[in-house]
Amino acid sequence: RSLTAAEAEGDERAVEAVLRPRTLDEVVGQVRVRDQLGLVLEAARRRGRAPDHVLLSGPPGLGKTTLSMIIAAEMQAPLRLTSGPAITHAGDLAAILSGMNEGDVLFVDEIHRMSRPAEEMLYMAMEDFRVDVVIGKGPGATAIPLEIPPFTLVGATTRAGLLPGPLRDRFGFTAHLEFYEPHELDLIVQRSARLLDVAVEDDGTAEIASRSRGTPRIANRLLRRVRDYAQVRAGGVVTLPVARAALDLYEVDELGLDRLDRAVLDALCRRFGGGPVGISTLAVAVGEERETVEEVAEPFLVRNGFLARTPRGRIATAAAWEHLGLSAPPVNVA
Ligand code: ADP
Repeated sequence: RSLTAAEAEGDERAVEAVLRPRTLDEVVGQVRVRDQLGLVLEAARRRGRAPDHVLLSGPPGLGKTTLSMIIAAEMQAPLRLTSGPAITHAGDLAAILSGMNEGDVLFVDEIHRMSRPAEEMLYMAMEDFRVDVVIGKGPGATAIPLEIPPFTLVGATTRAGLLPGPLRDRFGFTAHLEFYEPHELDLIVQRSARLLDVAVEDDGTAEIASRSRGTPRIANRLLRRVRDYAQVRAGGVVTLPVARAALDLYEVDELGLDRLDRAVLDALCRRFGGGPVGISTLAVAVGEERETVEEVAEPFLVRNGFLARTPRGRIATAAAWEHLGLSAPPVNVA
């Protein structure tokens, strides 16, 4: 589909697909991961074999899906996409696996959310390229072995720690994606601006980059919102003042904290006196799922020194109090 058609429909997913790097060379940042993965793929190509299973971990929007697509593209192999929550029964997985051809790449997003029986079936498939499909129930049940052609599993998870050890151990290559540096995000924003035909100035893209929570997906999204603002309320060009005004309007603050990030800090400081407070309690206080707070908001807040995890619960740091414009109580401050 053409870019304009996708955009005209306001189809954010389609626009995101257009902005995805297609080769390892186009991937910005993540230098070490790119290097290591490049080597794994090149070696597999020379041997004429499917590469080892790959596990990608890291917060949402850092490029896990993109990398899985690149792995398939570089191996010139078909890619099948599914996700942990979509595999509720072992049978769902057996159906997917039985349809695979040699060398196919299977991407399982949120692999930590797969059901237990499916997980156990996956261990066997990963290691022996074979699964036992159980037919029937109770004493009459029989296991029918099913051979699977060698394939490459690419698993993605927001937190590798959530994966059971046996599953984690079956990946031959594991990469953890880190938040991006502002200069890397700036390159991504500039590249996207070119692809979307948005007129930008250097300090405009730098401003978007510095407020993007270290996350390419957010950088691309903010670019599109700033462009809207530029086209409707300014001269169409993304300048520094335009970027600032637009991002203020969308409630993205100077440090890139969004509404949820601030809600978490606000609850932590104002309602719980800075903590320590359990993650579930904190999630209820901001009206969000525990997973969302833990996997989306928290990693960025921790990495930027606003929140600390302690055995007794989450606590606000001095930087958090300061950022909210509050004075910290004399105790409890990390
Ligand atoms: P995840 O699967 O980790 O949630 P995605 O792979 O879907 O993240 O990436 C989200 C968007 O961010 C993609 O559409 C892509 O355009 C962009 N992106 C991610 N990583 C990079 C990168 N290293 N360089 C350029 N763009 C990137």
